[in-house]
Amino acid sequence: MTIRFESKIPSGPLSHKWTKYRHEVKLVNPSNKRKFHVIVVGSGLAGASAAATLAELGYNVDCFCFQDSPRRAHSIAAQGGINAAKNYRNAGDSVYRLFYDTIKGGDFRAREGNVHRLAEVSVNIIDQCVAQGVPFAREYGGLLDNRSFGGAQVSRTFYARGQTGQQLLLGAYQALSRQISLGTVKMYPRTEMLDLVIVDGHAKGIITRDLVTGAVSAHAADAVVLATGGYGNVFYLSTNAQGSNVTATFRAYKKGAAFANPCYTQIHPTCIPVSGDHQSKLTLMSESLRNDGRVWVPKKAGDVRQPQDIPDEDRDYYLERKYPSYGNLAPRDISSRAAKQVCDEGRGVGPGGRGVYLDFGDAIRRLGREKIEERYANLFDMYERITGENAYERPMRIYPAVHYTMGGLWVDYTLMSNLPGLFVIGEANFSDHGANRLGASALMQGLADGYFILPYTIGEYFTSTAKVLPPTDHEEFKKAEADVTASTKKLLTVKGKRTVTEFHRELGKLMWDKCGMARTAASLREALEKIPAIREEFHENVNVLGESTELNQHLERAGRVADYMEFAELLALDALRREESCGGHFREEYQTEDGEAKRNDDEFSYVACWEYQGGAEPVMHKEPLVYEEVRMSQRSYK
Ligand SMILES: Cc1cc2nc3c(=O)[nH]c(=O)nc-3n(C[C@H](O)[C@H](O)[C@H](O)COP(=O)(O)OP(=O)(O)OC[C@H]3O[C@@H](n4cnc5c(N)ncnc54)[C@H](O)[C@@H]3O)c2cc1C
Repeated sequence: MTIRFESKIPSGPLSHKWTKYRHEVKLVNPSNKRKFHVIVVGSGLAGASAAATLAELGYNVDCFCFQDSPRRAHSIAAQGGINAAKNYRNAGDSVYRLFYDTIKGGDFRAREGNVHRLAEVSVNIIDQCVAQGVPFAREYGGLLDNRSFGGAQVSRTFYARGQTGQQLLLGAYQALSRQISLGTVKMYPRTEMLDLVIVDGHAKGIITRDLVTGAVSAHAADAVVLATGGYGNVFYLSTNAQGSNVTATFRAYKKGAAFANPCYTQIHPTCIPVSGDHQSKLTLMSESLRNDGRVWVPKKAGDVRQPQDIPDEDRDYYLERKYPSYGNLAPRDISSRAAKQVCDEGRGVGPGGRGVYLDFGDAIRRLGREKIEERYANLFDMYERITGENAYERPMRIYPAVHYTMGGLWVDYTLMSNLPGLFVIGEANFSDHGANRLGASALMQGLADGYFILPYTIGEYFTSTAKVLPPTDHEEFKKAEADVTASTKKLLTVKGKRTVTEFHRELGKLMWDKCGMARTAASLREALEKIPAIREEFHENVNVLGESTELNQHLERAGRVADYMEFAELLALDALRREESCGGHFREEYQTEDGEAKRNDDEFSYVACWEYQGGAEPVMHKEPLVYEEVRMSQRSYK
């Protein structure tokens, strides 16, 4: 069967598309809404905002997360802020400018219609969150404060110190809790979705494992929403929470949902450098620090002087030199590559030469230490706890690390996958960031999807489809339940010699070395050859301790790593097929004379939508990217 990937973007002028959609979409009568059941998997910013809003509208919602509380979703880690085109600073911002910055930031590989809608909705998000009591930073006069993030020349980032994700999540959690207490949302914490159930071509439910008792059970609904986050941990070391995983989306992929652009991964330039083999996680130093911190390395390779002993004339402020108009706020992909480049030249600092300085000396002299403390104290404290160094006194050392994944399940304009009834929101979908995400735009997208977009679009599905709520003893549910039980058992019976973590680390290192910040056809072919061998050994030699009928974190991890073992191959294949560089996908063969990503719009201006084929190689379908408003150009931040 040929699947067609149509974006379903409404016709008409770009700035009217979303308004037109909302005016024309068929609505579900308020008293009919309670007849529909919706499953929301995930309670991060995307999932919690969606579950709360759908329930407030009158739908019956079941919400699942694997943490012990929705408040512990990975979204809580977000530090720097959330973008919105409010133009409170009167600095020339507008919906169009946010739209254009985001399209350009994504290296012209995102859909115009989606991104414009995101920019429009951004202003509502701030109002919604302020109404919930989210304590955004304020200026002296009482207005909400803003700071700048990469890829923008205006200050449009709203923030709550270095804890924006946490404060936004508390707002969404509050809204969710209200619905839980009203009985309109049933919350299932510590419950992991392990399969999607399709009945007559429509997503009609999920299979879960209770992570405390091990009980496997089936849940049916009229629609399923996945808000399960990103897959950065395929690289093992990343800034993501350890629990973040690809399981829900990958298992949906195996049930027929297309995976879009899996090779688009974001490497964040300002993370604490890797310090040894013992690490299981990397720590982000928020991009907001680049508002005041200046990035530099010594001009000469092998200069081992302490930073304070290196005078200005011997320093290379390479971002300011290469990108004078954006300077230290050049976008993430560009700043990361520039850091790698100076380290490859032997000018890196710190152990192993894999680091660059982020220096606050000038800002402290200009503004005073107190001001810097006010802005970033918790980040400086965190840095000191991890490195033992005081960043008020000597520059931070930073290096790029895996941070976010722009790829995800394919969705159309309504956020529905190619499987009717399966919606995907937040980082789990591929929709709005193209080949590179600008800072502070993931929170914006997750909340736009959950609070403002899905609540309209899910109604379109309900009004255009016959209502069928299958019982959980339907044969498709029974089959999926049996499959989940069998694969869980299988992992426990291997009783091999190596731990799950050893395998994950081996896979992650291969992915980082061969498919990380820089990729070539040769390195990708090598990865594609080695991944199946690691996977085979995993299934023959992994040692998963404990039982399936108890709290068993070895087993949880084993299931997630088993999915990474397959998913990694899809990611590398997508990277191999995309014979161009764009955003975070940097193929060394395709670069401009000064080392920037070189796109090939004639041949690769499409979304790659991968269809699972069992054991055979997946098939790629293309959704062409149509630009009606914006002229694609070579990205420049000079
Ligand atoms: C350190 C750090 C800082 C960041 N800072 C910023 C920032 O300042 N601004 C910004 O815009 N973005 C930032 N980001 C990115 C942003 O935080 C994330 O992209 C965003 O929070 C993702 O939200 P989400 O709701 O899509 O997914 P998540 O918050 O990852 O939530 C996923 C949810 O799905 C559940 N789940 C997953 N799989 C399953 C399963 N199989 N079964 C049941 N439940 C499941 C989890 O329990 C969880 O509830 C940052 C990211 C990191 C790593």
